[in-house]
Amino acid sequence: MSERRYLVKEMFGPTLQGEGAHAGRAVVFLRFAACNLDCTGCDTDFSPEGARRYTADEIVARLRELDTNHTYRVVVTGGEPTLQWDADLARAVRGAGFRVHMESNGTRVPAGPVDWLTISPKPQHHPAGLALADNLPADEVKVVVDDTVDEAVLDRYAARWRCEHYFLQPWMDARYDHNLQRTIAMIQARPRWRLSLQLHKIINVP
Ligand code: SF4
Repeated sequence: MSERRYLVKEMFGPTLQGEGAHAGRAVVFLRFAACNLDCTGCDTDFSPEGARRYTADEIVARLRELDTNHTYRVVVTGGEPTLQWDADLARAVRGAGFRVHMESNGTRVPAGPVDWLTISPKPQHHPAGLALADNLPADEVKVVVDDTVDEAVLDRYAARWRCEHYFLQPWMDARYDHNLQRTIAMIQARPRWRLSLQLHKIINVP
């Protein structure tokens, strides 16, 4: 039986988590290639060009190598990480002592356990027939704000995912100033939601 090889766009660190409840925390990153969405304004290169296939053991070895300060915390992202994350890889990475923080678009239930699940829903970019998944054990919900997001949308998300942490984050695109003002106004109207900025872009770390 052949061992699964995961298509990885990049692994890097040490760096800082830039967004959400763990912003500012030292971490290493595992970014998978491929996504099941094609969002306008996506700021991430998850294309297969330049990606490499690794076994679970090779991923763990590289994460250990990168984690020079022994944070034992890895942000698992993409693309969409649930397309590849599975029980074998979860066992290998978590078995090596890493806490796994996954950032997902919420369309799929992770096939292996994680320690922290961030849902960043973008249903306005779903192709026909693709819905948000049910029964996702969200630890935080992070909504990227554009003109399609309003208070009614936030209320629906808060009812769908009961968790401690709700964040609004302005799309950092050509309309950033507009998106930021809109974000601030919505936080004033729905104070359970907090502001998340992409700190890594502001302080210029990967
Ligand atoms: S879900 Fe995320 S990674 Fe995928 S296209 Fe949308 S913004 Fe980009």
